[in-house]
Amino acid sequence: MAPWPNQSCPHPGCGQPIRDLLAEMVPNADQARPEFKAVLGQTPGGAITCPYCKQAVEYDTDGKSLVPSVLVPLIYSRAKMERRARDYGSHKKPPDMTMTPEQWVAEDKLMPGALHGYQYVEDGTP
Ligand SMILES: [Zn+2]
Repeated sequence: MAPWPNQSCPHPGCGQPIRDLLAEMVPNADQARPEFKAVLGQTPGGAITCPYCKQAVEYDTDGKSLVPSVLVPLIYSRAKMERRARDYGSHKKPPDMTMTPEQWVAEDKLMPGALHGYQYVEDGTP
């Protein structure tokens, strides 16, 4: 089951509502890492990016609260995100074959504003 935190980003200056950490969007290779299992299990020891500000967040020891993290965060895959957006768009009536990840998270995940200017794994480190 994917984490469904439904809380605000803990980073000052962001505070956007994180309804879904979109953990399934990190590359498959990263999903074998203990950091990924920590995020999925809602335990400390693994960080993932906030979908809005891209800063690292991880679960606190209470297993519920997201806190800013000093760990290197897991980053989403552009290829996976675009595939998911296209799949979502193709099931709309009428189909929308130009659906972008930004539109998909806004419509399906109710997180408008997320993923704008996001640096995906494929984009390299800035
Ligand atoms: Zn944020």
